[in-house]
Amino acid sequence: IVLDMSAWNLIQEWNPHTGQVRCEPGVTLEQLWQKVEPDGWWPPVVSGTMKTTLGGCLSANIHGKNNFQMGPIGEHVLEFTAILPTGAEITCSPKLNADLFYGMISGLGMLGIFTSVTLQMKRIYSGLLTVDAFPVKNLHSHLFALQENAPKYDYIVGWLDTTANGSSLGRGQIHGAKYLHEGEDKNSAETFKLKNQTLPSTIFGVFPKSILHIFMKPFVNNLGVWGVNTAKYIASLRKHSFKESHGAFHFLLDYVPNWEHSFGDGGLIQYQSFLPKETAEFVWTQILKLSHKNKLPAYLGVTKRHRPDKFLLSHAVDGFSLALDFKVTDKNRKKMYAMLQEFDKIVVANGGRFYFAKNSETTAETAKIFYGEETVEKFRKLKKRCDPHGLLESDLYRRIFNS
Ligand SMILES: Cc1cc2nc3c(=O)[nH]c(=O)nc-3n(C[C@H](O)[C@H](O)[C@H](O)COP(=O)(O)OP(=O)(O)OC[C@H]3O[C@@H](n4cnc5c(N)ncnc54)[C@H](O)[C@@H]3O)c2cc1C
Repeated sequence: IVLDMSAWNLIQEWNPHTGQVRCEPGVTLEQLWQKVEPDGWWPPVVSGTMKTTLGGCLSANIHGKNNFQMGPIGEHVLEFTAILPTGAEITCSPKLNADLFYGMISGLGMLGIFTSVTLQMKRIYSGLLTVDAFPVKNLHSHLFALQENAPKYDYIVGWLDTTANGSSLGRGQIHGAKYLHEGEDKNSAETFKLKNQTLPSTIFGVFPKSILHIFMKPFVNNLGVWGVNTAKYIASLRKHSFKESHGAFHFLLDYVPNWEHSFGDGGLIQYQSFLPKETAEFVWTQILKLSHKNKLPAYLGVTKRHRPDKFLLSHAVDGFSLALDFKVTDKNRKKMYAMLQEFDKIVVANGGRFYFAKNSETTAETAKIFYGEETVEKFRKLKKRCDPHGLLESDLYRRIFNS
């Protein structure tokens, strides 16, 4: 039996004066921001796609490009209700049933089912963000720029040219974004309108975006990606600033429908490692070099700045994350898996962590090292208490916690 909570998708209460919202767990981030944004509010944490549900977001405890400032979504949950496999109906907040609050948020859906979520939204004064874009010439300056600039911005994110090597290894472009202050946007009534948040459905006013992935496909190979990355880096050398809608800044990928199809039949694996700021440069230098040596370069690299949080199965560190997209084919599958296992060893040996919403190669042994035995044991105990007969299981759970 598979539980599908997506039809449980009502926004039950919205208070535009306080910014508090109570939702059923199947409400998507898309529904949520489209409800609150016209009233001058924005979800404090969003992922790179708006198609996710609140139940899924809490279970993974998602982070945004502002993780260094705002923490994960769990830090903005005022309260949730849930049903446990024992049949118990519970209410949790940071003060009420706190162990379940911090365990179920990040708990990968294995302790119980969220039935409602109350969140605090963030006040905004414009439908636009101010964005600064500037280049970074190698991995050292890339990480230095993320760390030094993060305090100046509300959001920061880096694009990393995964194909560059030698003294340019890790080069890329940083985007830092800030909210506008009250009164700064003289046209806020207009910029808040939903029609100004969503991007057009055609490119150059002609081609429907739904076919864009077909045009991308010829470039999704080692040579094509090298060409695209090199061109993108050259284009990024021009330092510039611009205004962008919240929708466009956060959810660019959603505006290229089926982008993942451009990777071909084998699809892609996203490998996201989280490293303390002291070891990130060393580890990612090894990882990028190994990917080149194996002739299995990643096709996209994205960096973020993070801070630790108090949730039980936390993926965050005081440092950075690098998400790498690898194309998988029948021919490279075995070699890819072996390479990612090698990466895992380097990451955990240097205090790193993984994020189960992304990584599918992580083994139970690796998880025990980065969470620590005590955390794994604590999670197992909670599982026994909430779900004594093991009603809720997933492949991920069986692989990591049930072995
Ligand atoms: C293009 C893309 C970009 C992304 N960008 C980011 C990003 O920037 N930051 C980030 O942190 N993540 C990101 N993610 C990961 C994504 O946010 C998580 O995988 C999220 O959990 C997906 O939510 P979902 O609604 O699709 O849930 P599903 O994939 O259906 O489920 C995810 C987990 O939630 C559990 N679950 C779902 N509903 C409930 C419920 N009601 N009660 C209890 N458990 C429940 C499921 O059991 C499962 O374990 C991205 C994913 C994609 C595809």
